[in-house]
Amino acid sequence: MEEEEGGGGEEEGEVCDTVTQIVLVWFTGHPRFMNQLSCGTEVVSIAGEWLTAAANTNMFTYEIAPVFILMEHVTMKHMRKIIGYKAGDSILAPGGSVSNLYAALAARHKMFPEYKKKGLLALPGELCMFTSLHSHYSMMGAAAAMGLGTDNLIEVPVDEKGRMIPSELDRLIQEAKAKGKIPFLVCATAGTTVMGAFDPLHAVADVCEKYKLWFHVDNQRHKMDGVERSQSITWNPHKLMGVLLQCSTVHFQEDGLLISCNQMCADYLFQQDKPYDVNYDTGDKVIQCGRHNDIFKLWLLWRSKGDEGFEKHMDHLFEMTSYMIQRMKQHPDKYELLNDEPECTNVCFWYVPHRLRSMKAGPDRHKLLGDVQPILKGRMMTAGTLMIGYQPLDHHPNFFRNIISSQAVRREDIDFMLEELDRLGYDL
Ligand SMILES: *Cc1c(COP(=O)(O)O)cnc(C)c1O
Repeated sequence: MEEEEGGGGEEEGEVCDTVTQIVLVWFTGHPRFMNQLSCGTEVVSIAGEWLTAAANTNMFTYEIAPVFILMEHVTMKHMRKIIGYKAGDSILAPGGSVSNLYAALAARHKMFPEYKKKGLLALPGELCMFTSLHSHYSMMGAAAAMGLGTDNLIEVPVDEKGRMIPSELDRLIQEAKAKGKIPFLVCATAGTTVMGAFDPLHAVADVCEKYKLWFHVDNQRHKMDGVERSQSITWNPHKLMGVLLQCSTVHFQEDGLLISCNQMCADYLFQQDKPYDVNYDTGDKVIQCGRHNDIFKLWLLWRSKGDEGFEKHMDHLFEMTSYMIQRMKQHPDKYELLNDEPECTNVCFWYVPHRLRSMKAGPDRHKLLGDVQPILKGRMMTAGTLMIGYQPLDHHPNFFRNIISSQAVRREDIDFMLEELDRLGYDL
C-alpha cells in the first residue's frame, strides 16, 4: 500500500472494504485459491493445530514434550523408510528453506568438521555448491547465510522442461575445480517451484558419486524415484500433502551428523545425567533453541488418512491437473500452455485476450501477453473470485502458474476458473 504524504489516510469505510476484500481473496482453503502450494484446510490437521496451541509446549527436550517427541520419532522413521534410507536422522524445521540450510550445513560439516570451531580458517579454499537454474531461491539464501557468498551457488542450466542437465552439471563442477574452488554439495529439485519439473535424480546422483559430492534433494511433491541415493532430502508436508503451515522435514542418510554439526551443550537444558535416554532431547540438533510442535498435526493427519489416503490425496490433485490441461486444450485460442505435459500439479499458461487471438505466434505476441497477465491478476483480486500466481521465467514474459494443492478443488472449480479468466480478461 502506498503511503500518503501528510498522513491523510483513507476513509474508514474504504479501509474496511479493502480488508473484507483481502479476507475474501486470501482464504487459502477456498477451492479457487490456486496461488500457492501451501493452501487448503485439512480439518484433521486443524484439530491437531488446536491441541498443539492448547498444550503450548516446546520440542527441545523429552521431559516437557514426551509424547510429541515420540510422535516425531515414529513419523520421521516412517518417512525415512518411504525415502529408502536404511537408518539416518531427521528433524522438523521452520520451512523448506531452513531444511535446505540444514542439509547444506551438515554437508559442509561432514567435509570440514573443523569449520564449526575455527570458522573460515578451517577451509583450504573457496567452497561452492550447485543447483539448477530453476531451483528454489532458498539455496541462494543458504549460500549467503553460510558465508559462501551467492556467487558460489552455481546454477546449472535446464532443459526445455525445466530439468537440470547432468552433463552441464559435470562441466560446471570441472570448471569450478579448475578455478581452484571446492565443490561440496549438489542440490537436485524434485518438483521445481514454477514449472514443477523433476531433475533426473539418478543421473545427478551419478555425477555426485563421480566427484564425491553431497547429494541433497529439495522435494516438495511426494514423488521420489532415485532419492534413496541422496545424503539428505527436504520434504515439506505443508506443500502438496496439505498439512497446515508450518510443517517441514529434513532427513539424513547418516545418523549423528545433525547433533555433531549443531550441538552447543547448554547445561541448563541438555544435562547428560537425566533419568531417561537423553538421545530423545532433540533441541541440540538444531540452530534454534525452542522449537514449535509441528509434528502433532502431521501425525494426526497421517493417522487419519494412512499411506493409502495420502496416495488418493495425490491422485486427486494430479487428476484435477490433467482435467485442467484437457479443458485448456479444448480452447487453444484462449489459453496458451507453456508446457502441455506438466510433471507436477503446476500448470503454466498465458490467458489470451480477444484482441491477441488472431495475432501471429512469436515473441511480439508473447511480449504483449506478458503485459496482460498482471492486469488480469489485478482484476482477479478486485473481483475476489480467483487467485492464481504469475511470474516471468528465463526468456518467457509473465505467465500464470496455476497450482492445485488443495483437496477441495473439484472439476466445477476448474470449469469456473476457465470461464472466470475469460470473463475478466476477454477485453484486455
Ligand atoms: C516451497 C519450496 C521451498 C521453500 O519452502 P518454505 O517452506 O516456503 O521455506 C523450497 N524448495 C521448493 C522446491 C519449494 O517448492
